[in-house]
Order: sequence, then structure tokens, then C-alpha cells
Amino acid sequence: MRFAFYSRSDDNSENIKKSLMEKLVSIGFTFNEQKPELIIFIGGDGTFLRAVHEHLNTIDKISFIGVRSGTLGFFCDYGSDELDLLVSELKYGKTQLGSYRMIEANLKYQTRQTTIYAVNEIRLENPFHTMICEVQINGEKLEHFRGNGLIVSSNLGSSAYNKSLGGALVDPSVSMLQLTEIATIQNNVYHSLGSSLVLGAERTVNLIGDLNRSVVGFDHIFLETGESLTAIEIRLSKKTVQILHKSGHSYIDLLHKTFVVD
Ligand code: NAP
Ligand code: MN
Repeated sequence: MRFAFYSRSDDNSENIKKSLMEKLVSIGFTFNEQKPELIIFIGGDGTFLRAVHEHLNTIDKISFIGVRSGTLGFFCDYGSDELDLLVSELKYGKTQLGSYRMIEANLKYQTRQTTIYAVNEIRLENPFHTMICEVQINGEKLEHFRGNGLIVSSNLGSSAYNKSLGGALVDPSVSMLQLTEIATIQNNVYHSLGSSLVLGAERTVNLIGDLNRSVVGFDHIFLETGESLTAIEIRLSKKTVQILHKSGHSYIDLLHKTFVVD
């Protein structure tokens, strides 16, 4: 197995990396940064997002496995005290493979188009001026939106920004897109849906309008659209991310450990 690391680069993460390097080489794995089949990310959820974007072009040939070097980590199944467990689960094929579809958006500018990909969500935001756009689902008008922005999140992203906005947490076994509003204007004149909308896996969300002053965000990345952005078309992507989970991994237990204090 050819492996490489993606580390948050703080001292703790670097020490974990050194230790894992020795342990993995000792079971016959090969360190190879050019053509890795396995990326071990060490840090937090943000580290995972960065690792995925770094390897986007070869994402279908790679699996990710995560070690927490901080306290939490939704995507990091192993603690820093579980390195031997991680190595033995890899050696004996005991990990549980999770395959998750990414989200993609086609950004339509006046003179060109480009596609972006995200694990968590794709956002269109303007915190300084009311963002006005038409929202269409599969080409049908849903609403004329006025507010700070809209996000479309994946099942994996439901516990990130989407949760802070009051969107629902989604079991990763459900294939869907979730459209959630950011600070909508709601009064006698303007009214939009006012709740999160969970959409089937084959739906497309179109945001259409004069989007020049809005910022397009995807995972930890954002684009300031200096040129004329006229529409965004968002859908589930064919690209998937493979995560090797710790044996016995459970989404319900993860929710309990991450969000519930009792
Ligand atoms: P960040 O500002 O460090 O991320 C915000 C927090 O979200 C961090 O605690 C991060 O964990 C956690 N997180 C990321 N993805 C998650 C997921 N799928 N489920 C649960 N928690 C998750 O920035 P970042 O690390 O580069 O992550 C980018 C993400 O931050 C974006 O995709 C967006 O979802 C999220 N975000 C959230 C808010 C908000 O909640 N108000 C605002 C902006 C962005 P770690 O500390 O382990 O990295
Ligand atoms: Mn972070």
C-alpha cells in the first residue's frame, strides 16, 4: 500500500506523523507522495478538507484515514493514542469503508464557465448588501431570495455550517442536497421558504441573478467574483471521497460524542 501524509503541521501532528511513518513502513507499506493510494490526515476536520482539495484530480484512486491531533474531529476516527490500532486495522483490513459523494457547482460568468467541488457545502454569500437571486430547482422557480446568502450542503457537510444555520443533521446513508438560508429578509413584502429544504440526489439547484458582489465559498476556500457571475448550478457530483473508518464506527455515536453533553 502506497501512503502519504497530510498534516496540520503543528508539533503534535508532526510527532504523530513520524511515529506512524515508522509503524507503517515496518508492516511493509511504502511511503509515496507522488502516487499515494492512502492519505493519512492528521489534525482536524479542516485538515481533511484541505487534504481532499489537494488530491481532487486523483480522488477516485485514494482513500483517506484520519488521526485527531486536537480534541474534536468529525472526520478523524482515530485518537493520537490509537496509532497502533490504526496500523493493525489497516494491516488486517479491519477498517470500514465509507464512500461519500461530493457536491459540484458550475459557475457561469458572462464569458466563461468553471466547475468547483466541495465535501461540505457550496455557499453564495453577501454579508454587506442584500443578496438577491432567483432560486430554481430543476429549472422550476422556487423563490426570489433576499438575504445574506444560501448554502447547499452535502450529507457530510450537514454537521458544519449548515448546522449553525439551523439546518438538519443528515445520516450519511441518505443521498441528498440540503438548501439552507442565511439571514433571510422576511416581512409583509418579501417572503422566502424560511426553512431548510432537503432535495433528492438527482436535483439541481440554480441560483440566478446579478451575483457580482457575492462571494462563492466551498469548504475552506472562497472566490471573490470580480467578473460578472450570472448563475450557479449546484448538484451532487460523480466524484466521491473514500474514508476508512475505525471498525465499529457509528454516525449516532459520533453525533453523541461531538454535540451532546451529558
Ligand atoms: P473552521 O473555521 O476551522 O471550521 C469551523 C468548524 O467547523 C471547525 O470546528 C471545524 O472543525 C468544523 N467542521 C468542518 N467541517 C465539519 C463537518 N463536516 N462536520 C462538523 N464540523 C465540521 O474552517 P475549516 O476547518 O477550514 O472548515 C471549513 C468549514 O467550516 C466550511 O466547510 C464550513 O462548513 C465551516 N464553517 C462554519 C461556519 C459556522 O458554523 N458558522 C462558518 C464558516 C465556515 P476543525 O476545528 O476540526 O477544523
Ligand atoms: Mn478548522
